[in-house]
Amino acid sequence: MDNIEAIRGTKDILPKKVIYWQYLEKTASEILTKAAYQEIRTPIFEQTPLFERGIGEATDVVGKEMYTFTDRGDRSITLRPEGTAGVVRSYIQNKLFASGGVERLWYSGAMFRYERPQAGRQRQFHQIGLELLGSKAARADVEVIAIATDILKALGLKNLSLQLNSVGSKEDRQTYRQALLDYLTPYKDNLDSDSQDRLSRNPLRILDSKDKKTQEIAQNAPSILDYLGDDSRHHFDKVCTLLSDLSIPYELNPRLVRGLDYYTHTAFEIISGDLGAQATVCGGGRYDGLVSQLGGVETPAVGWAIGMERLILLLEKLQPLSPQTPDIYFVSRGEKAENYALVIAQNLRHSGYKVELDLSGSNFLKQFKRSDRSGAKICLVLGESEVEQGMIQVKNLENSEQKTVSQDKLLEILTQLIN
Ligand code: ATP
Ligand code: MG
Repeated sequence: MDNIEAIRGTKDILPKKVIYWQYLEKTASEILTKAAYQEIRTPIFEQTPLFERGIGEATDVVGKEMYTFTDRGDRSITLRPEGTAGVVRSYIQNKLFASGGVERLWYSGAMFRYERPQAGRQRQFHQIGLELLGSKAARADVEVIAIATDILKALGLKNLSLQLNSVGSKEDRQTYRQALLDYLTPYKDNLDSDSQDRLSRNPLRILDSKDKKTQEIAQNAPSILDYLGDDSRHHFDKVCTLLSDLSIPYELNPRLVRGLDYYTHTAFEIISGDLGAQATVCGGGRYDGLVSQLGGVETPAVGWAIGMERLILLLEKLQPLSPQTPDIYFVSRGEKAENYALVIAQNLRHSGYKVELDLSGSNFLKQFKRSDRSGAKICLVLGESEVEQGMIQVKNLENSEQKTVSQDKLLEILTQLIN
């Protein structure tokens, strides 16, 4: 019978890699906490209409990438393809707005999209994201961008660029849409087939196409920045000024429209020069219409999501992290000694030491070899004779010094040897 393997587009994160994930999660959560963001955990699956209404039916995510199924109660369920819709649903349902002022939230976890798997693109992938709800100030946009750049900087990442655009208000986009249509329609036959479809439904999406030829055509399309109304223009200028005040470099990219429908005004991505085709490590922007679209009171909001797999790819290139090693490797032989070693090991852990107990039952020589490979500083040895005499052997693996001490004195000796 064939072995059952992990599903295409999913990956096991094995212990040697988990340390990178833990490092990333710790770094990000510390920076988020410093800026007064609180973690929220929402369910991995939601009612399908949440995403249809929230993300937009004409997007790739909703149109082609969702894991949607009917459950045993005949409900349409979708594994979340992104985090914002669930957070906003929770914000409305739990009346988080009732506290007044702004709500600062962050999340991390698995997302699901049916895409073609490749380096940095999976079907189950992970994001860390934040949402700042309740402020329409340009300062809010800049606060969230600054937090993203801080996280990437704290991780030691270089060769990044912040791409910035404004997609304006709904009204601005109406005017722009016509200008874009006028420009694109003559090229209709040269566009990829998805983009041809979008021409009538959602021409802005064409700017987001991954097709080379379409991208070339889009290169000379009119710029949305020339179609912003006064308020949008003012908001965007302020974002740019504040970014400069914080010495955060950015590049204007009028082609940047992002893949989800809910964005308004500021849209941004952070791109790595070290990742090849899947280069965007963070994407976000303002989404003033989403809360009301999902049934809440009109609430301006801005947020972003970082793709964790892509960051991990960068982190691995940057610095090797090694797994934690035990302080003590514990070797024992003979039933009485083995049983007693279990007790001592447990007590040592309660005293704060990391202890790995050899459970093999093999001879001392084999156990010592494993002890040498364990990375521990100290090897403890307990045989039948030590148990009878109330003694234990302590081997310093760093200089091979070895002594037999009374079990009562063990903690004292260990304190001297392990700091
Ligand atoms: P892309 O253009 O690469 O498909 P996107 O615009 O669909 O990205 P977002 O929905 O903005 O991506 O998600 C934010 C971030 O999550 C992306 O910038 C990326 O780093 C990561 N991401 C998105 N989809 C995947 C995936 N299938 N596998 C791994 N990471 C992903
Ligand atoms: Mg995508």
